[in-house]
Amino acid sequence: MQGIDLHTHSNISDGTLTPEQLVSAALELGIHTLALTDHDSMDGLIKAEQFAKNQPIRIISGSEISSQWARPATKKSYGVHIVALNMQNPAPLLKVLDEQKRIRAERAKQICDLLIPLIGQDIYADVLLKVDGIADHITRTHIAKTLVEKGIVSRAQQAFDKYIKEGKKAYVKFDGLCLEETIKVIHESQGFAVLAHPTRYGLSATNVRYMIELFANAGGDAVELPPNIEPLSTRQMVDRIIAQFNLKVSVGSDYHGENMPWIKLGNIPRVKEGQVGIWESFR
Ligand code: AMP
Ligand code: MN
Ligand code: MN
Ligand code: MN
Repeated sequence: MQGIDLHTHSNISDGTLTPEQLVSAALELGIHTLALTDHDSMDGLIKAEQFAKNQPIRIISGSEISSQWARPATKKSYGVHIVALNMQNPAPLLKVLDEQKRIRAERAKQICDLLIPLIGQDIYADVLLKVDGIADHITRTHIAKTLVEKGIVSRAQQAFDKYIKEGKKAYVKFDGLCLEETIKVIHESQGFAVLAHPTRYGLSATNVRYMIELFANAGGDAVELPPNIEPLSTRQMVDRIIAQFNLKVSVGSDYHGENMPWIKLGNIPRVKEGQVGIWESFR
């Protein structure tokens, strides 16, 4: 099972390596199966595939789709990332990603506008420089980095904590697809739907379970295993829920290059006996 990484970012979103550099780094590490899963985009796929040609590595098509789910009782909605993998007929997904990109571009401008009275300047033009002028590639990571470079905060994490994470003044919700719609379009594209990093949304254990149950009931295929740095109890909780809902598992590092230097490409958690990897279903 070594040599697989099914969750990675290039500079098409908030990673720092180009798709080609990412494939090159993966080859050096002996990775033989690599999914490029940029946020709401598949724009790096062709570059990665071309670079991988005649090399001992298989590129799996992918995208990490900004989605949401809600608890009917409270009507509160929560953000969730669904990783789409191995699409055989990407057209339906690509169409939906166009709309997600429009939302992403608009939201970046809204966040920068909300920041103006808080920091006394408009950083939108500088943020745009970080993505070569392609507004739909902007993530909050780019906004956080710009705030660091301007000396407004000392670290990217501080930018989230002070301004742009949920509950803060310059937070703008990503008003995209709901979890059920995302799974449906992934299946229409003949791909697999993976619930990304279930324990990284700041949810209570009850809500993690509820979210995975919704995902399973909507036909979701697999849940990403928590990284090794998370406590054993967290992993055990996720293992239990995965087993209960009969879901497959996925493994990915969520590599972001130098934007998150503590995350290493190819560093994935071990699959437990009895768990079935989604990669075994790849077509
Ligand atoms: P976006 O899709 O624009 O909302 O940006 C999401 C990216 O921002 C995620 O992929 C993470 O890399 C990063 N991110 C989200 N929340 C936080 C947080 N609380 N602290 C640091 N980075 C975060
Ligand atoms: Mn990211
Ligand atoms: Mn994510
Ligand atoms: Mn990711």
